[in-house]
Amino acid sequence: MKIKKRSWAEPFKIKVVEPLKMTSREDRLKAIKKGGYNTFLLKSDDVYIDLLTDSGTSAMSDYQWAGMMLGDEAYAGSKNYYNLEDNVKKYYGFKYLVPTHQGRGAEHIVSKILIKKGDYIPGNMYFTTTRLHQELAGGTFVDVIIDEAHDPDNLHPFKGNIDLNKLDKLVKEVGVKKIPYVSVAATVNMAGGQPISIQNVKELKVFCDKHRIKMWCDATRAVENAYFIKTREKGYANKTIAEILKEFCSYFEGIWVSAKKDCLVNIGGLLATRNWKVFEEARNLVVVYEGLHTYGGLAGRDMEAMARGIEEMVELDHIKARIGQVEYIGNLLIKAKVPIVKPIGGHAIFLNAKKFLSHIPQTQFPAQTLAAEIYIDSGVRTMERGIVSAGRNKVTGDHNYPKLELVRLTFPRRVYTQAHMDVTFESIVEVFEKRKSIKGMKMIYEPKYLRFFQARFEKLK
Ligand SMILES: *Cc1c(COP(=O)(O)O)cnc(C)c1O
Repeated sequence: MKIKKRSWAEPFKIKVVEPLKMTSREDRLKAIKKGGYNTFLLKSDDVYIDLLTDSGTSAMSDYQWAGMMLGDEAYAGSKNYYNLEDNVKKYYGFKYLVPTHQGRGAEHIVSKILIKKGDYIPGNMYFTTTRLHQELAGGTFVDVIIDEAHDPDNLHPFKGNIDLNKLDKLVKEVGVKKIPYVSVAATVNMAGGQPISIQNVKELKVFCDKHRIKMWCDATRAVENAYFIKTREKGYANKTIAEILKEFCSYFEGIWVSAKKDCLVNIGGLLATRNWKVFEEARNLVVVYEGLHTYGGLAGRDMEAMARGIEEMVELDHIKARIGQVEYIGNLLIKAKVPIVKPIGGHAIFLNAKKFLSHIPQTQFPAQTLAAEIYIDSGVRTMERGIVSAGRNKVTGDHNYPKLELVRLTFPRRVYTQAHMDVTFESIVEVFEKRKSIKGMKMIYEPKYLRFFQARFEKLK
């Protein structure tokens, strides 16, 4: 036999296992009904393969676990803080670090410092917690991502790019004084885990320098973004992930990070900047909202695990296998003609629920419905990214109607194997086969903020 292509495999072996509970269809029907047809309200015990999120769900390495034992739980000046500070400087390139309990803690502080009431914050598509903190600080988020990002079939290699014409239009409309910074996400979760190119960031930098607007980055997934730059952008194929990450960050005044993603830890976040004044203010605020500036709501051991996770996240074999796993199941789905967002993103597969359940109108929550159906079929837990996640318009009170109505399958890092991917794939295809018989839902309980977490639904008859 002639080998046509050499496969990759997970670049680790398994030392500790966590048994998975198998459930029956009946068990699952009961569980999802009890959870108001919202996969966020399921007990994790009732879930077989959990693709709800890759946030805080990564498996830590033996090197990280060993670091946990070296936690220095001193209230002030923990040595783990200094290890983290060293690695943030070394890998992200920022001098000043403020740790936070997770990403939104950093978003809260950054938004409070930079935003005044009445400001506008342009960004490459919104992220739920990011936008909420910008709005709570008195700002209005304005989407300036390229149009291609809103088209789930467009194959643009950098769908996270910013449209400078849209940004220019905003500057002309509201004036630079009302734009404290551009909020750049890498990669863009809501567009399907799509990257932004360095070329685009460089052009943005020229524009922002000219208008004296700051640039801040949500660098939560900047390593995944760096991998796409390496594989897709001219001139970067021979650079290491670490080199690309550092260059990428060099264009920004500061970053905020949810360490629960790229950084391979179960909890943690950070804010880092080269601007001493912003750092000073952040250090003041962190004491109010998170904890002392040398722990920010984290245990010393958490900071050590994060410092070590940062070293591991830039290893090429790791990030290649991480994104390779997503591409593996994505390509199976494409072959089976299941509608997904293309190109395949960095951390997740997004099923296009608008197409998948084209007979269900958006007001009957097609993505929410599809996530429930997949769970009922196999115990695979996914989540809605559509009209429920988009929330309501602040002024009119009506739903926001996003163009994208998606179900997200998000892959924890280093947790599931290729066989888990096969089982998941088969379940989705089965649901796809019987899609015409699936009915929509109505919302029977709606929380005020980030409603997708706790909203409850009922099946329409
Ligand atoms: C997860 C995430 C956040 C929020 O971080 P938490 O750690 O969940 O508070 C912000 N931005 C992006 C891009 C994220 O993925």
